[in-house]
Amino acid sequence: SLLRFYSSASAAQQENSSPSGGRITKFRDLETLGVHNALVRSITDGMKYEDMTEVQSMTINAALAGKDLVAQAKTGTGKTLAFLVPVLQKIIADQPALAESRRPVRARSDDIRAIVISPTRELAEQIAAEASKLVRNTGIKVQTAVGGTQKRMSLQKIRYEGCHLLVGTPGRLADLLTDTGSGVAAPNLTALCLDEADRMLDVGFDAELDTILKALPDRAQTPRQTLLYSATMPKDVVGLARKYINPTNFEFAQTVK
Ligand code: ADP
Ligand code: MG
Repeated sequence: SLLRFYSSASAAQQENSSPSGGRITKFRDLETLGVHNALVRSITDGMKYEDMTEVQSMTINAALAGKDLVAQAKTGTGKTLAFLVPVLQKIIADQPALAESRRPVRARSDDIRAIVISPTRELAEQIAAEASKLVRNTGIKVQTAVGGTQKRMSLQKIRYEGCHLLVGTPGRLADLLTDTGSGVAAPNLTALCLDEADRMLDVGFDAELDTILKALPDRAQTPRQTLLYSATMPKDVVGLARKYINPTNFEFAQTVK
């Protein structure tokens, strides 16, 4: 399957497009793919973005179709929106009431539907800020779990405000998910995103990532979609992908720019 990663990578590179095709280039076209209007409006009217970047155009469609994804793209190419749109859409598709309300429908710590793992506190906070802009017309709650802040504080926010999307750093996420007293579990997890995978391994977060993987529900019982992004694709990142990605339903996308 290592070979498969590389062969689909070169196929993607040759075509300069995602292997399954079906590219879209405008955010407003997301609605034709079934993305909820509340999310699309946040992008087109709130953020005022019209055209997708290359990685967004190459991956959003496949991710919306439910495929796992390994995507290689440089920093600054718009990966955050590329994974937040399909992940948030999945949360709304599972709980349509969340799209209709500006308030959380209910606040329970086991409501966590999606987790984004990011190498640094700053990046995690940026991702959460972008996610909060996207969900401003919905009842979806976004929380962070990062080091350097009081564990008790983030736990309280998760418990009392609710949490559907949790964005965090490997250490703190591993800590919360393995602390049975924390009340933070993700039995209904449907999406997982590993951002800047190469950086996470460079910093030496392999053990924490393994801990998180073990603490998550078994994929055989609770199917989930995994999206992995990395600026580079060295062997250790491919190894990480093999642990997390569904080998029978994934796509490899690589941007040329
Ligand atoms: P990456 O994660 O690939 O490093 P980011 O997601 O942080 O990139 O995006 C880089 C910058 O580009 C951010 O300021 C973001 O808001 C902006 N951006 C993302 N997508 C678009 C777009 N389609 N059009 C214009 N700006 C965008
Ligand atoms: Mg990024």
